[in-house]
Amino acid sequence: MMRYDQLWDVVIVGGGPAGLSAALILGRSRRSVALIDEGKPRHSVTKQAHGYLTRDGISPAAFRHAAYEELAQYDSVWRIEDVVTEAFKEQNRFLVSTYGGCKLYSRNIIIAAGVKDNLPPWQGMVQVYGKSVFLCPYCDGWERRDEPLAVFGNGNNLYAFTRKIYSWSKDLIVFTDGTAKLNEEQKLALQIRGIGLEEGKISQLQHTADGQLTHVNMRDGDNIARTGGFLLDTNERQATNIPEKLGIALTAAGHYETEHHGQTEVKGLYIIGDARTIFSGLVGAANDGYIVGEIINNDLLEQEWKKSGLH
Ligand SMILES: Cc1cc2nc3c(=O)[nH]c(=O)nc-3n(C[C@H](O)[C@H](O)[C@H](O)COP(=O)(O)OP(=O)(O)OC[C@H]3O[C@@H](n4cnc5c(N)ncnc54)[C@H](O)[C@@H]3O)c2cc1C
Repeated sequence: MMRYDQLWDVVIVGGGPAGLSAALILGRSRRSVALIDEGKPRHSVTKQAHGYLTRDGISPAAFRHAAYEELAQYDSVWRIEDVVTEAFKEQNRFLVSTYGGCKLYSRNIIIAAGVKDNLPPWQGMVQVYGKSVFLCPYCDGWERRDEPLAVFGNGNNLYAFTRKIYSWSKDLIVFTDGTAKLNEEQKLALQIRGIGLEEGKISQLQHTADGQLTHVNMRDGDNIARTGGFLLDTNERQATNIPEKLGIALTAAGHYETEHHGQTEVKGLYIIGDARTIFSGLVGAANDGYIVGEIINNDLLEQEWKKSGLH
């Protein structure tokens, strides 16, 4: 029987693929785990997730449900639907507090809270995001192959990103919503390949009731037909600043500074998944969880082994 006032081996903040996978490996290692999750994984805006072997095309809800069923076999894993608001380190343990009033003590804490997308402010953007306009071509490019697509974005990575999308569709128009940050050579390279460049300001993304993009409306009155697209970036923000409060710096790229496999300078604090990389994908996030679960179990085992040898 688990109790709020026990000392947990691990508290996991966030139950996306990273946190769920860490919970699975730790549960299988007979470790006591409190998995606290707000229940809004990043890809929940989509209908289908792709690229996870044996799960290609699964809905985010079905993915989560399958993970919950698997975790239910391990009675040392306790899943709590709540939001972690604070975590402090007190000597060798962490005190974790939740919005719902839980207070848990733990030897280790894994931050698997992911990031939140901060979409461009164009009318219609929220409705098409994850339905016909996506972030990751490896996740959703196949379903949009050979369609008339938009590439939305500007900045240093625009040229490389456009090239990448070109391997799924040759019918591309790049919308930069202002003067393109492309040099003349890059502009020519797009032109030679028949890739359009639209530098005007976007006013609206027109779409069907189920979020399928139909037109990009420009402020100058042009309506450009497109059936889908990809966003260069979404100006992501960390879902929680708990690591910062515990002394972990954010890099210029917006993810937390970590060492090997999500270990941090703060003993017992681990950061995995999108919080560590900005974009891990489902497999990458699950892999992080697996590895960190093993690292934590080994660490706990070492402490217990030493203690059990004392007379
Ligand atoms: C539109 C879109 C489509 C995508 N499609 C795919 C795809 O097809 N294939 C693929 O591999 N990847 C896809 N991804 C990427 C994938 O969603 C992420 O890389 C992956 O979910 C990261 O996993 P994570 O566990 O790190 O974070 P998340 O999945 O975001 O999970 C974090 C969890 O932590 C919770 N949380 C946050 N803060 C707190 C807190 N303070 N307390 C408690 N809980 C908290 C959140 O609510 C959430 O449940 C897609 C992403 C987007 C945006």
